Amino acid sequence: MPLYKTWTLWSENKINEAESKLLRRKAEELTVPFSDQDKKDISTLIDAFCSRDDAAGLAAPQIGISKQIVVFRSKNLDERTPLARGSNDYDVLINPRITQIRGDQEKASEGCLSCPDITVDVLRSTAIKVKALDQEGRKINKRYAGFLARVAQHELDHLEGKLIIDRGTTIYYPKDKKDFFEKIFTD
Ligand SMILES: [Zn+2]
Repeated sequence: MPLYKTWTLWSENKINEAESKLLRRKAEELTVPFSDQDKKDISTLIDAFCSRDDAAGLAAPQIGISKQIVVFRSKNLDERTPLARGSNDYDVLINPRITQIRGDQEKASEGCLSCPDITVDVLRSTAIKVKALDQEGRKINKRYAGFLARVAQHELDHLEGKLIIDRGTTIYYPKDKKDFFEKIFTD
């Protein structure tokens, strides 16, 4: 069991109403200087992310915190071992905004901890620029390209209450859950 509960739109064959509501909400912006509670929430998200080895990134709403904080692996993207807290292998972005979209759109398959059991083909830009705040509340600018640009766009979407099923062109689910998912996706 992961240390922190991940909030999901559904589990097994049941829609999670309360969790869906939070995941679908636009997350709250943080104000500088960060409050003690904000600092605690940033720290909790990093702990939650570093405690697992099955995610490229994590957004605060995914652990039930409706604030604009994301963390994702920014180096050694193929590694699947948990990251050491305080390492340089991940980026933490607070109040992130995409300031520039460059490059082409590319389609690739994505999964999401908040949408268990499915993968979705999602079209994303291959290069973006992002402005955000770091953990200390300082302004930062970042460029992401390729897979990292995809991960960043996926995580930023969470802060707008958008999930892969909203972006997806094709949704794939296991055959034995066909009835459940067909019902969801045709409504
Ligand atoms: Zn996700």
